[in-house]
Amino acid sequence: MATVSHSRLSCFESCALQYKYRYLDKLEGERGESIEAFMGKRVHEALQKLYTDLKHERLLNEEELITFYREEWERNFHEGILIVKDYTAENYLAMGEKALRTYHKRFQPFNQATTLATEKLILMDLAQDVQLKGYIDRLDRTPEGVYEIHDYKTSGTLPDQSDVDTDRQLALYALAVKREFPDAKNIRLIWHYLLFGVERESSRTEQELEQLTRETVALARSVLAAQSFPPHVSRLCDWCEFQPICPEWSHLFRTRELKPEEFRKEDGVQLVDEYVRFSDEKHAAEQKLEEVKQRLISYAQREQVNAVFGRDQQARIWTKETVKLPDHSDPQQEELVRLLKLLGRFPEVTRLDSWELGKIIEERRWPSAVLKQLEPFCRKERIYRIYLRDRE
Ligand code: SF4
Repeated sequence: MATVSHSRLSCFESCALQYKYRYLDKLEGERGESIEAFMGKRVHEALQKLYTDLKHERLLNEEELITFYREEWERNFHEGILIVKDYTAENYLAMGEKALRTYHKRFQPFNQATTLATEKLILMDLAQDVQLKGYIDRLDRTPEGVYEIHDYKTSGTLPDQSDVDTDRQLALYALAVKREFPDAKNIRLIWHYLLFGVERESSRTEQELEQLTRETVALARSVLAAQSFPPHVSRLCDWCEFQPICPEWSHLFRTRELKPEEFRKEDGVQLVDEYVRFSDEKHAAEQKLEEVKQRLISYAQREQVNAVFGRDQQARIWTKETVKLPDHSDPQQEELVRLLKLLGRFPEVTRLDSWELGKIIEERRWPSAVLKQLEPFCRKERIYRIYLRDRE
């Protein structure tokens, strides 16, 4: 039986290559742990200590909690911690402290429920071939018999209700709690967004849990059977420990080490610079060409000629009035499709683009009554082309 965790599945969903490096190749990340992850761990530890002490009838006051947090921060901190954003480690230390102080003030004396476990290990068979592994930050039981699954978050974004209503991780843990505690009829899922001092709550029905199990098993099987692991570039790359070896970024890291002179001479750097230069020149030339084309058309109209002769070549100006219809980027297209369906003409054009439909209208291939109804969608447009030929 294969064991998967929510983080393993999420990793595959966000970037299959990162998944391969981390879970299949079991590579050590080339970069250190991020400061966000480090701060999150210290905050989790402090809250775990708070509730473990409570189980032993010892209530940490706010200052004791902060002292524990600061001591653990200092004991674990090392220079290899990765800071991506433009802030210092002190800033993050202070953020975690503020979050813990806010939490302590809000929930002391922490007697809302009985804590059954902290960092509770979940090992649950989802199917014959798939087992789920995870940890519940805190499992509580209220005096009313409601089980509460608490999750501590130190992320800098606050999700909306629909995000937590579709969250997979805590819902799967709810399933595990149901199986382990037969009296757990009512389970509340609670996320503590500690940096905001805000909680989000949700719950799941039996049917939703069954559906989620089916989906998770299908996802786990496809992840376990995956043969291809394409990279997926996103803003998360900045925090990815494999960025220096990932083909999407490794060139950046390699060339960052070079001295300025070596950097300028590096083949890839030179090729990209050259490519950019030619692209810019091409773009400028295209703009210039369009400008000259318009001037040439105006000249031909003014002189009432169809061809203008240069020293070596002649420019022949071809023009035609066409019918322009709304394309897919135009909201009117939906209305046009509705009308075509109503007129029984849609099957003839489902595979046609608006340019081809325009031709049908121009060539009046459909009955006049049909064409009449399409008129509001038609816009006349004159197009011009210039063909160069040798002078005779
Ligand atoms: S750097 Fe980005 S694309 Fe590369 S493995 Fe990491 S997450 Fe994936």
